Amino acid sequence: MLLAGHQRRCCTRVDATSFRLVPTEWRYVNEGGANVVFRFIGQESSTLKGYVLRIRKEDVKGATPDEIVEFASNNQPTKSGVEYVQVAKAIPVEKRFLIEMNEILKDSPRPTHRKANLHLELPYVMLLPNIAFPSIDQEPPICVELKPKHGRCYKENDMVHPNKRIACRFCLHQHLKHSQGKIHSLSRYCPLALFSTDRSSIASALEALIATPQNNFRLFSSESTFGWDMAEIRSILLELFLQVPILQDLQAMHELDVLDVEGMYNLSQLHDLLTQHNDKEATLGSLLKDLSPSTIHYLILITGGQWQDVSLAAWNQLYQQLYHNFMVATTYKDCSLLIAIQRTTESSPIMDVEHLITLSSGDLFKCKVAIVDLDTKHHKSIGHYYKLDQSIALHVTSDSKTTCTVSQM
Ligand SMILES: [Zn+2]
Repeated sequence: MLLAGHQRRCCTRVDATSFRLVPTEWRYVNEGGANVVFRFIGQESSTLKGYVLRIRKEDVKGATPDEIVEFASNNQPTKSGVEYVQVAKAIPVEKRFLIEMNEILKDSPRPTHRKANLHLELPYVMLLPNIAFPSIDQEPPICVELKPKHGRCYKENDMVHPNKRIACRFCLHQHLKHSQGKIHSLSRYCPLALFSTDRSSIASALEALIATPQNNFRLFSSESTFGWDMAEIRSILLELFLQVPILQDLQAMHELDVLDVEGMYNLSQLHDLLTQHNDKEATLGSLLKDLSPSTIHYLILITGGQWQDVSLAAWNQLYQQLYHNFMVATTYKDCSLLIAIQRTTESSPIMDVEHLITLSSGDLFKCKVAIVDLDTKHHKSIGHYYKLDQSIALHVTSDSKTTCTVSQM
């Protein structure tokens, strides 16, 4: 998981060379399928106060902490001009540290279905500020984790499977998951509504997330959620999304996928075919015969028309860029937003990293927004995504009542 603060100036940086990780100063918090989270419980004066460690479990595939941090540094949203500063760090550790942390894990109150040990061979762990529990001397904030997914429904002239014009991918995927028994009921949430920029649509999207959260909406706090009511939290989130262009920034990253996975898969097969040629100056026109109309369509789209004149060397460069952009978009389509909300008074100073939200009641709140779960997807093949995409599209039958939960925009 990566934490990128929505901030212009970083005030939470920790110099990795200025401290030493001591196993007894960390306590188990929770875990998912891939990582275990430990909270710092050492001295109040330590620069590590307010931080958590995320340590990978054994036998988990995917990007390592150093790869995730590097990915986020090199692929930040830029559309709105708001600077996103990366606050997560990949910290080098010795195997001895991981062995001792593994012993701590064995004595921790883990959920019964979680058994895996820590990965003892990884040279890095992830250190990140825990914005859910920033300070004990203020009123505890509440934290919302929101996974918006991707808001797009294809139009009549888009060259995709026709079923992908019926509803957005999230809503289509709900039907497949339901038939596979992965979810008990369909979510009422539709990303098209959240990404719409329309006040009433965003409000209904938030209402749907609260009613049917699945893994798209989670609320947590260091203390308890007592004193907060959902209507208030929904109103704060609504004002935040109208005030801060975070969703537009995410959408711009999603749009780096210009061909859809169907086009990307088509060209990846063409690329495989072209790897058997060595003459870098040869043109695609001389190397490729009997192309399908769809392949020609994609080639025209990405070259501006003159695809026959493109040299093999230029093609290789072009394809690498397309592949990279597709993977960046895919990673951002699966990221989450972490939003910390704290009550405040008008006289409270607002830091650069915070957004002040005023409700119609006059109540004031400070919010901090971070983009998390930017685990780069490069370890999965284009073929993997294509196969999943096709199972989602093919699952929709002609008599199905599948549709987006909102009118399509
Ligand atoms: Zn939808």
